[in-house]
Amino acid sequence: MPLLVMKFGGTSVADLDRIKNVALKVQREVERGYDVIVIVSAMSGKTNELVGWVEATSPLFDAREYDAVVSSGENITAGLLSLRLQEMGVPARSWQGWQVPINTTAQHSSARFLDIPRTNIDHKFAEGMKVAVVAGFQGVSPEGRITTLGRGGSDTTAVAFAAAFEAERCDIYTDVDGIYTTDPRITSKARKLEKIAFEEMLELASLGAKVLQTRSVELAMRYKVRLRVLSSFEDTDENSGTLVCDEDEIMESKVINGVAYSREEAKITLVTVEDKPGISAAIFAPLADAGVNVDMIVQNISEKNYEDHPGSVTDMTFSCPVNQVARARKAMEEAKAAGHIAYDELIVDSEVAKVSVVGIGMRSHAGVAARMFKALADENINIKVISTSEIKISVLIDRKYMELAVQALHDAFKLEAA
Ligand code: ASP
Ligand code: MG
Repeated sequence: MPLLVMKFGGTSVADLDRIKNVALKVQREVERGYDVIVIVSAMSGKTNELVGWVEATSPLFDAREYDAVVSSGENITAGLLSLRLQEMGVPARSWQGWQVPINTTAQHSSARFLDIPRTNIDHKFAEGMKVAVVAGFQGVSPEGRITTLGRGGSDTTAVAFAAAFEAERCDIYTDVDGIYTTDPRITSKARKLEKIAFEEMLELASLGAKVLQTRSVELAMRYKVRLRVLSSFEDTDENSGTLVCDEDEIMESKVINGVAYSREEAKITLVTVEDKPGISAAIFAPLADAGVNVDMIVQNISEKNYEDHPGSVTDMTFSCPVNQVARARKAMEEAKAAGHIAYDELIVDSEVAKVSVVGIGMRSHAGVAARMFKALADENINIKVISTSEIKISVLIDRKYMELAVQALHDAFKLEAA
């Protein structure tokens, strides 16, 4: 039997009517002759609610219990969708992570797959089950405890199943009808892309475009999983949505294909750290240990001859998500107290956002940075930090100008036109 993986996000299963609609889409594929593995998210808002309960109970929570609580939303939708399919006469069965089992590392709240043995599900398919409804986002650690894969993790579950079961396609059904040049809520000029290269999607996903979880794109790229993003609220066929694929498949590409943003960023500066070998390691190791996702890093030029600092000193600036500032501050204060690092002041700016332009065409075109900075300058937007990679340029700016920056860049790179 050919096999299809279909993934439905939170808004697609937000209530019982929508679950019914999902069941109809699944039934259609079964009627076309597929065995189907459906990966479901929690009903929209559910995971946020569960996370809120955890944080309200224990601000520096134990990650094992966090996982125990926040993984539960998916169990509900898996069971309900399975019931709905059964009501329609489609042989379906729900699967929680430990039942498959979806074996992951013990890195709670951001676990990684170890393996997904096919035996149990294949056995049920052989017995006549047509649809396996798998709870996304969760797995089981070597110690047998429930794990979760990080927010948005059911996309990654879907791709991992598509790879493990050698699915013909992995269709990611969501509340948008594809991948856009930028967020259509920020500019109505945003345009849907027919295809996008894995690498570009990877940058856009990791830069805060919320459509696909970054790791799902990494996995798809590694295992060459044909990934399609499409709407669960429209009638769709094999050509709907956006195909995320190898760059060889894309004939014509613009220099820039997308503008991404990440709203909840913070900038932290350690003022007058010593400028000597080992200092960066001494700063960033404790941050990593504390689970702070450091993104941009800037080290100032060195300055000598401060009265109270005999050697040369510098300032170190880095960015991280706003909700990790407390952890970062604690890690730095502890490292300072332990004598591992020294600094005069720790300055936090929690009112920043990151805006980035992405395109594989940047590899072969000069002048992209200049064009980007000019567009921001024309809007009088001050750039606080800049970082670049082979196919992207990111800037940190005041959060209140984020929308304006996205619009200006979308215009400057003429992304509206195909
Ligand atoms: N429900 C989880 C979340 O909201 C996982 C997912 O939907 O992908 O992050
Ligand atoms: Mg999602």
